[in-house]
Amino acid sequence: MLPLKLDDFIGNDRIKQEFRRMFKARNIPNSIIIEGESGLGKSTLSKIIANAAICSSINGVIPCLECTNCIKFKEKAHPDVIYPQKLGTSQSFGVDEIRKIKVDSYSSPNEAPSKVYIFEDAQSMTKQAQNAILWLLENPSEHAIFLLTCNSTRFLIDTLCSRCQIFSLSPVDTNLVADYLRLQNFEISKEKINKAAENSRGNIKKALKELSTKTDHTSSLLKSVTDSILKGDEWNLLVLLEQIRNDRKSFASLIALLLSTLKNAAIIKSCEKKGAPYEGFVKSNEAKLLAQKLELQEILKLIEISQEVLKYQELNMALNVLIVHFCSKMCFR
Ligand SMILES: [Zn+2]
Repeated sequence: MLPLKLDDFIGNDRIKQEFRRMFKARNIPNSIIIEGESGLGKSTLSKIIANAAICSSINGVIPCLECTNCIKFKEKAHPDVIYPQKLGTSQSFGVDEIRKIKVDSYSSPNEAPSKVYIFEDAQSMTKQAQNAILWLLENPSEHAIFLLTCNSTRFLIDTLCSRCQIFSLSPVDTNLVADYLRLQNFEISKEKINKAAENSRGNIKKALKELSTKTDHTSSLLKSVTDSILKGDEWNLLVLLEQIRNDRKSFASLIALLLSTLKNAAIIKSCEKKGAPYEGFVKSNEAKLLAQKLELQEILKLIEISQEVLKYQELNMALNVLIVHFCSKMCFR
């Protein structure tokens, strides 16, 4: 889920500090540009600012996430947070749309203290549209806030930039990216997460994308593999693994994923035994299924076999032999 609070927004501490101060003083500027490469969180930050602007805080924290305005915003149903429509298939906002906003911005907010207009990807606006927005910013109504996001302000006319307070997002520390990924992906190995964090150069969206393309295939294979193991269907397991018979890396990833799923299944079993909750930290459906169908002793045996297979894999044992060994051992039930 996307963060709705500044504290959950990763990195860019100086910018967060400035907004924290503004939120507390209930003094958000009327015209803001958030710039930064794709994936750094411009859209997320603009939502947090919009949420803060419309919040009628009931607990002193802004945004409070509890008032009617915050709840409506979370449900994407707040009438005072407006995303102007782009013109047809072009990526620019039409001048007519901007005229409509001009009229709308002078009418009082429907429910919140402010009305917020979010112009996303403003870098693709035509000069004409930019000039129309400039007029809005030069003649603002007192309760309207205009937020523009763009990859870089060099695509915007100088007069528009000079009317706005500009916040430039930077890539974040790769350790923070790795921490974030770990919180989101319980079933992915530490090595993979660190590699994705490093390759992303501090861009969380890039890191998530790399992990999801890498794990999609392995995750769907894990589903079928788990199913065959539970049925004790050695033949089907062999057929499934045939597709990665020449791909040592994919085999290693699959077994590592299976191992961590089995470990989670064991955690579920132990928690159940003690009557403790596990939902918070085990999300995998496969782990839940394994825990449901197998005894703890059986899960521990499968963990042992998977660890052994991983060790043989690292010792470079011929992959076809290893696959046959794996299939016969895992279907012992
Ligand atoms: Zn609120």
